[in-house]
Formats: sequence, C-alpha cells, structure tokens
Amino acid sequence: MTKYYLGIDLGGTKILTALADDRGAILGKRKIMTEANQGIANVLANIVHASQVVLDTSSLSFADIQRVGVGIPGWVDVEAGLVHHAPNLKWEQVPITRLLEAETGTPVVIENDANAAALGEWLWGAGKGACSLIYITVSTGIGGGIIIDGRLHRGKDCRAGEIGHMIIDPKGSRCSCGNNGCLEALSSGTAIANRGKEVVEERRPSILIDFCQGDSSKVTAALVSRAAQEGDHVAQEILTTAGYYLGIGLANLVNLLSPEKIILGGGVMKAGDLILESTKCTLQDITKASSLGSSVEICKAALGDESGVVGALMVARNRLPDDNFHIP
Ligand SMILES: [Zn+2]
Repeated sequence: MTKYYLGIDLGGTKILTALADDRGAILGKRKIMTEANQGIANVLANIVHASQVVLDTSSLSFADIQRVGVGIPGWVDVEAGLVHHAPNLKWEQVPITRLLEAETGTPVVIENDANAAALGEWLWGAGKGACSLIYITVSTGIGGGIIIDGRLHRGKDCRAGEIGHMIIDPKGSRCSCGNNGCLEALSSGTAIANRGKEVVEERRPSILIDFCQGDSSKVTAALVSRAAQEGDHVAQEILTTAGYYLGIGLANLVNLLSPEKIILGGGVMKAGDLILESTKCTLQDITKASSLGSSVEICKAALGDESGVVGALMVARNRLPDDNFHIP
C-alpha cells in the first residue's frame, strides 16, 4: 500500500505545504499566508487548511498520511516537539507537535527550517551525493544547516547553524542580535537594503534615487539588484561588498569544517551573479595559502523556494531513531 507524507515549510510570511508518496513523487503543493500576527490558533488553522486542500486534490485525507514534517523558523527541540523561540512567528514555548497532532490526528515531527532546507538540498537538490555540506540561506536574515559525514549536525540543544551571527567585522553595522558586524548585518537582504537607503539619504549619484523617487524607505534589496543589473556602479558596489563579507564567512566555515559543498539559497542569491562572483573571489583569496577554498564547490540551491518544504517531507519520511536520512 502506498504511504503518503506531508511536508510543511512554516515561514513568518507564508506557509508552503506539499504532499508526497513514499517514492518521493510530489503529488500537490499549496502556498498560503501565515498570518502570524493573528495568533497561534490561526496559524494552526491555516496549516490544516492548506494541507486539507492539497489532500483533497489527491482524494486523500489525514488518515492516509504516515507523518507530517514541519520546518520552523526558530529554535526548536525536535525530540520534545517544542518551539522554544521563533521571533518571526512571535512564538515562545509552543508545543507545536502536540497541537498539530490534535488537529490532524496524524504523527507530527519538526525541524528547524534551515536544517530542513539543508536536508532538502542534500537529498534531492544541489547537494546530492555529498557527505558533508553547508546550506546557507541569504534572505531577510541569514541562516544555515550543516551536514557532516552524512548526518545533520544540530549541536547541543539543536542550536547549531547560526551562521548569520558569526562576527565578520567587529566594527561593522549593528545586527538585530545586538552585536556589531555579524554576517547577517553585512550580507543579508536587509543589509543590502540598508546600504541602498544610505545611498539615497546621502544623495550619492545612483539610479536608485530615481527608482525610489528619492524616498529611502522604498529601497529594498530587490531594487538595489535591479539598479545593479542596469549598470549602476553604486548598486553594484553594494552587492559586491555584501558578497565580499559572505566570502569571509565562507572562508571561516571552510577552515573550520572543510565541507565538500556550500549551497547558497534564499532570495538574495537569485538576484544575479554579482554577489556569488564576489563571494567566490574572496573565498579563493583568503584561503589561497591552504587552497581549502579550491577544494569546496560553491553552488546555488537547486530547489529554489522549495528546499525547505522538500526537506520537511524528508523529515516526515525519514525520521528514525538513529536519525539517519536515506536517499529515496
Ligand atoms: Zn547577529
């Protein structure tokens, strides 16, 4: 009899749900808004609704589902099924597994969202076949998941992978965590938008000023990327600098873990190759003495926005006592 699994990528803005069978074929997907500001009960109802829609299209019900896997943006205890802290959802100490199991009547397993995305890319995406890799999402913030010797590295209390808060320049911009010069404060979409806003406020010669009609509050990372693609040198410099700092972060990771691959995902990496080229150059430059930078393959995520939901499906399908993940 065919077994079915549901994967849920629970984001601060959107929920992406996917249904797959035990051969790994994805049978349906659904994206809806999270509406985190309307409370936990509302978010749970949205998850159940999106899942129900996907199940209906395949004439299935929750009773046909072996397990639901959920990727969550925050600090989670995977064993206890507990979300300790998820700032984007405004959740503190939420027993998500128990709550969702009560709603669906189906076993639920959880994972940190970046870890889930790392698993998705490892098992089905750009990391296929690698024994060790680091997945980094460069988006509004920066997060990561680490696979070492064929296993997900969660660290003590499932807190490993806070790549965005590695300090790259102690004299750099203030990070949301309170420190200065974290990778997230230098290379994230938020950081890129902030540099763009400064350009507009300082009235430096840039097409960005036209793009936002002189209103710096309208500057986004996407707008900076558009300006760069149209040949604006100031915008190009912003992206090159973001890539430079990301390259320093990658060099630190390569020196520490020497992975086979580093996979870069998230919205910022989709905006042209300027950041990626700058990142690679910096990595090669910093590691030239050891040549470690040459031994690692730097690539973009193959699953795009779906790394997380595919990873959540993998979590649902493969969560075993030894936590080894088996490639379908
Ligand atoms: Zn920080």
